[in-house]
Amino acid sequence: MKCAFCEIPEIKERQIIENDLAWVFPTNIPITPGHTLISPKRCVSKYEDLSKEEKEAIEDLRIKICSSLKKAFEAEGFNFAWNDGKNCGQSVPHFHLHIVPRKEGDSGIYKYEPREFLYRPGSRKDSPEKELQEVAKLIRDNVN
Ligand SMILES: [Zn+2]
Repeated sequence: MKCAFCEIPEIKERQIIENDLAWVFPTNIPITPGHTLISPKRCVSKYEDLSKEEKEAIEDLRIKICSSLKKAFEAEGFNFAWNDGKNCGQSVPHFHLHIVPRKEGDSGIYKYEPREFLYRPGSRKDSPEKELQEVAKLIRDNVN
């Protein structure tokens, strides 16, 4: 799979800010005004591929860009998200954290409720407590 972030020069020209290891640019499909992406400069696909230094560089830019978006777009809060893998909707194989500025009465997203768009076993509203405890045990048993 080709990487648009690395291969399309217009995307580089959209850069807002950068540091040694990461950079910020506006997405071409904004959900709300000011919707931006933070990416490592190194072309890696998943969060687990990022070095500790790259994660810190991304966090540094996240703080800066959120401060700017509060001023530039009167953001009152944010949705932060990334799609970690092709099966999860990751369309560009280069890690990118979505920063979606939100404010009262904004357009685009009316609500952010993953439980309404992700697959749920049996499409149940709630899961039995026993099942949740079994899931917790299964995951806990596999923590390194
Ligand atoms: Zn890339």
